[in-house]
Amino acid sequence: MPPIFLSKPQQFDELVLQKYEDFVFDLDGVIWTGPGGNTLTPHVKETLEYLRSIGKRLAFVTNNATRSRKQYLEKFHSLGLTHVVLDEIFTCGSASASHLREVILPEIEKEGGPTGIYLIGQASMEEELREEGLAWRGGTDPEDDVLLPPQDFSSIMPDPEIGVVLFTFQMRINYKQLAKAFNYLNFNPDCRLVLTNDDFSMSIPGGGSIPGEGAIASVLLNARKNLQPLIVGKPHQPLLDVVHRALKFDPTKTIFVGDRLETDVLFGKRGGLDTLLVWTGNSKPHDLVGLGDHEEPTFIADSVGELLKGVPKEKAAPRVKVPGEVREEVRQARGEVEVRA
Ligand SMILES: [Mg+2]
Repeated sequence: MPPIFLSKPQQFDELVLQKYEDFVFDLDGVIWTGPGGNTLTPHVKETLEYLRSIGKRLAFVTNNATRSRKQYLEKFHSLGLTHVVLDEIFTCGSASASHLREVILPEIEKEGGPTGIYLIGQASMEEELREEGLAWRGGTDPEDDVLLPPQDFSSIMPDPEIGVVLFTFQMRINYKQLAKAFNYLNFNPDCRLVLTNDDFSMSIPGGGSIPGEGAIASVLLNARKNLQPLIVGKPHQPLLDVVHRALKFDPTKTIFVGDRLETDVLFGKRGGLDTLLVWTGNSKPHDLVGLGDHEEPTFIADSVGELLKGVPKEKAAPRVKVPGEVREEVRQARGEVEVRA
């Protein structure tokens, strides 16, 4: 069924506000936007507060593991979204740590394999592992934060205790880290490779894009034949499984709100959720052309803040005008634009 473009108050009320109990939001391009992600999308604060006031449950997910959940909580609060609590935030890093503890390590233990974790990742990933009570090697260990002398492989050797290589974004990645991870995966045929996400590239404030986790981790995929990594973040399922284990949501009454067709909409659909695609981020209307049923969102709206249109007038708080609207009003007052009734 083609997506429904939500624009009328009745649609927001009947098709969304009355139907769904749990609202799961992507962050970048949905809750906030701009180069540093420091600008809230229009009316998002009032919208989230309204949803909460009528008993809806909220959750926030992101494929960015370079901040910990606690750091994201600080960001929410610093942007004025002070009602958000830690348990509502899930990053692909925190979900990887949860998934390791709840699913992967118990599986390995059952098989009698080694449960040591070798981490390629930054301090934020270490914080999430610590929160789950897990130990690791590598990470920010100064021993691995070095450039090896030419042709000196003496520090690279198998470790039979390593059963998981966990890979996430690491700005200080080097040959020693990659060689150790590759060697562990190669030496132990049961050693698992877990990626927080497989995003191939990411755009940067200076323009253009740079390699993401998926691109950098591709080096490790050839460590042995038929190595299948477990990918936690969107559009893969473990991230949603972690949210589900935490919130026990009913998929038929849950909607995922995102800004990217190829990750967010796919992520929601794979998890059996209806999806709302908003235009405040990555995907643009022309991206919908030629899509199959399995790729289309359930709904489309200009922004998350549009949901406020479904709020009965007597309950709606006065809307705070965004700068663009104020400018538009001034232009209309000056007769510079045609005002349609
Ligand atoms: Mg996004």
